[in-house]
Amino acid sequence: MTSSTVPPAARIVLATHNLKKVGELRAILGAAGLVLPDGGLVTSGEVGAPEPVENGVTFAENALIKARAVCAATGLPAVADDSGLAVDVLGGAPGIFSARWAGRHGDDVANLELLLGQLADVRPEHRQAGFVCAAALVTPDGHEEVRLGEMRGVLATAPRGTNGFGYDPILVVDEDGDRTAAELSPEEKNAISHRGRAFRALAPAILATLTAPAT
Ligand code: IMP
Repeated sequence: MTSSTVPPAARIVLATHNLKKVGELRAILGAAGLVLPDGGLVTSGEVGAPEPVENGVTFAENALIKARAVCAATGLPAVADDSGLAVDVLGGAPGIFSARWAGRHGDDVANLELLLGQLADVRPEHRQAGFVCAAALVTPDGHEEVRLGEMRGVLATAPRGTNGFGYDPILVVDEDGDRTAAELSPEEKNAISHRGRAFRALAPAILATLTAPAT
């Protein structure tokens, strides 16, 4: 996509209370040629939108639940993502439970250590896994779009690297072949990540929404 002009007053809400995700999404969309005006991307936290119960059973369902709730609360187009790590030998787990695999939501170190322990005896040839992301767009007129992205790799036996978050230190990324996701720079990770792929695929729909004539 070439660089696209978005009207200065265009606004879209990102359904997250995580400010790091705003920077990441801005960078991903910018690299895809969609440059949002200052103040054009706000978070649900900034506009005081409530956090819905994420009771879907797929990444796509949970992304839609978040985007629908924020769109309904703000009257603005909303984007949301839901993501996690799917381990082949565990049948796709932790999956949608990635953030609370060890019991407490968002305890990245405990989640990673529990998973490494569970897989301690699994041989290298059976350690394939992938980060998966569903990115959703919901507009006030009821239009909904979901795109999926994946970044495959092999699980290491011990964490490596200090970038990123979550399970990044234990996924040796297939497209690199050597480094874990936590050893990639943010730019390198965005270029091949599950979130990068899902949001780049969603970017044309976001652009169409932001440039649509007001009714
Ligand atoms: P969220 O839905 O994006 O907030 O992610 C849910 C959980 O999945 C996080 O708490 C992480 O444990 C895991 N996860 C999602 N994306 C990534 C990633 O890019 N790197 C590492 N872990 C991730």
